[in-house]
Amino acid sequence: MAWKWYDSTIVRIEDCAPDVRRFWLQMPVDDPLEFKAGQFVTMDLPIHEKRLKRWRSYSVAGPPGEKEMPEFCIARLEGGAASAYFFETAQVGETIRFKGPDGNFVLPDELSDRDLVFICTGTGIAPFRSMIQDIRRRQLPYRSIHLIFGTRYAAGILYRHEWEALLRDMPDFQFSVALSRESELRAEDFSFPVYKGYVHQIYMDAYPKAQPGQDFYICGWSNMIDDAVENLLVKMAADKSRIHYELYG
Ligand SMILES: Cc1cc2nc3c(=O)[nH]c(=O)nc-3n(C[C@H](O)[C@H](O)[C@H](O)COP(=O)(O)OP(=O)(O)OC[C@H]3O[C@@H](n4cnc5c(N)ncnc54)[C@H](O)[C@@H]3O)c2cc1C
Repeated sequence: MAWKWYDSTIVRIEDCAPDVRRFWLQMPVDDPLEFKAGQFVTMDLPIHEKRLKRWRSYSVAGPPGEKEMPEFCIARLEGGAASAYFFETAQVGETIRFKGPDGNFVLPDELSDRDLVFICTGTGIAPFRSMIQDIRRRQLPYRSIHLIFGTRYAAGILYRHEWEALLRDMPDFQFSVALSRESELRAEDFSFPVYKGYVHQIYMDAYPKAQPGQDFYICGWSNMIDDAVENLLVKMAADKSRIHYELYG
């Protein structure tokens, strides 16, 4: 799939959590965004005079089936130029120019013998939402999926209701959460396991040694990814070819 430039229109904006918003972009008529679950686009945002300083990448947060109106899940970073645009300026009706799709952070064609471990923090959950929804919509056979998500507070658990529904409906799907700053955690407030701390403890406890058939996908900022890759390679003896990551910055 070669990338090209599109002019899309913001058609819906919703808060997803404190400092995280969902944006839906309407594609031009008869020109949907053909992408694979997990891929991203690069937007040319009105935030700088110099072209290259205007470009920011965002993973598509919905499945390829939503190619006429892809969804994006965007966090506000303190002092960030694109953050200021998305949280202070962007309105429904505005045009967003972007190129895409791009990236190799996609699932293998054959999943029936795979145990997928998805590790992410914050909006790093976006490509995994796209992949999981794609697996569900197309009823792709898989062995198991474990989504491990980290954020600071319980209010930051993105798409919480969707994961709760999937825990009821989707066989062999697990959702585990690490909250780094929540002071008091009560198990009865959650229908999934929640830990105080960081994502790393969750996968290391669950899988002390990597197993054949396990694929580890990691998405987020560099500190988390660096630590995860080191843990997987050194402590869990995972095969390098089974570790896939998407670095946000
Ligand atoms: C392939 C790809 C996909 C992406 N997908 C998404 C997505 O789906 N959703 C999303 O919200 N973002 C995503 N990003 C990140 C996004 O492209 C921007 O980098 C982000 O929105 C910040 O841009 P900004 O202009 O607001 O900040 P900038 O002005 O570019 O950066 C400045 C701010 O970022 C902060 N910052 C820099 N590095 C880090 C770090 N490691 N951790 C925390 N803060 C840091 C700095 O403190 C500074 O305040 C993706 C990035 C890539 C490369």
